[in-house]
Amino acid sequence: KRAEAAKAATGPAATADGERISVLANIGGPADVENAVKNGAEGVGLYRTEFLFLDRADKPSYAEQVKAYKAVADAFPGQKVVVRTLDAGADKPLPFVSTEEEPNPALGVRGLRLAFKHPELLDEQLRALAEVQSESTADLWAMAPMVADMRDTEYFVDKAREAGLKTNGIMIEVPSAALTAGHLAKVADFFSIGTNDLTQYAYASDRQVGALARYQSPWQPGVLRLIGAAADGAGAEDKVCGVCGEAAADPILACVLVGLGVKSLSMSAPAIPMVKAALALHTVEQCREAADAVLGAVSAEEAKDIARAHLPRLE
Ligand code: PEP
Ligand code: MG
Repeated sequence: KRAEAAKAATGPAATADGERISVLANIGGPADVENAVKNGAEGVGLYRTEFLFLDRADKPSYAEQVKAYKAVADAFPGQKVVVRTLDAGADKPLPFVSTEEEPNPALGVRGLRLAFKHPELLDEQLRALAEVQSESTADLWAMAPMVADMRDTEYFVDKAREAGLKTNGIMIEVPSAALTAGHLAKVADFFSIGTNDLTQYAYASDRQVGALARYQSPWQPGVLRLIGAAADGAGAEDKVCGVCGEAAADPILACVLVGLGVKSLSMSAPAIPMVKAALALHTVEQCREAADAVLGAVSAEEAKDIARAHLPRLE
């Protein structure tokens, strides 16, 4: 079994009964591509473009953006590359954008919300992505961070479409978006759940505050239920729901996520082989049974124990 799993880790990802699951890499820029490919990434599930914008006095030019996005897209011919538009503001300030001091930066003008005040930044980024889409064979998907409601979703999808982008989706990282996923899935082409922020907002616990670490587990029953709600909403509209938060890098939780209806998993590159191996050891039915049982847990610890009992091949 273990040898089979190790072999499965280098090929395309699938469950034991042959259901294909995309296993993708989270990257911060072209420098991360080599490691993603080396670890068997089937594409990029989260390209955090903010790294191109942070820690510099001036905005990256249009040409600079095209160059960076194209370098990533060209490394994955014929494969999926999900590019997240600028996720800055608040605690990740940009010197070339005036932002106000905020009492609660995590609840402030960040992510897509920054575009409401400075639409030119998003517009230029979308134009750069559209150019890369037309010049590369990668399957380029555009995605907005920090989407809370339908108005946010429409705002982004309309703009991306106007720019000529073909596949335009949203991150699910605010609880309101997970709970209203059925509506948002009518407008967004896909979802990608950001479990890091989803956990922070669901448990009202700043992800940068170590003293609150206990709440910061994607195994928390409240987080698992929100993930289930998001996947159900996407499924009802035949839209792909992925996970690109750290939860996807945990091999046991990855199987539970598949059981909840998640079709793509994106993670930091070194986690890819283990997650592929874990998927190859279990059928979708086993993942579903584990997910159903885990949804009954009263604590993160119990959720983990239940998952382990249902997915014993991972021990
Ligand atoms: C997340 O919030 O889970 C996520 C993937 O985005 P980031 O960690 O960049 O906020
Ligand atoms: Mg996030």
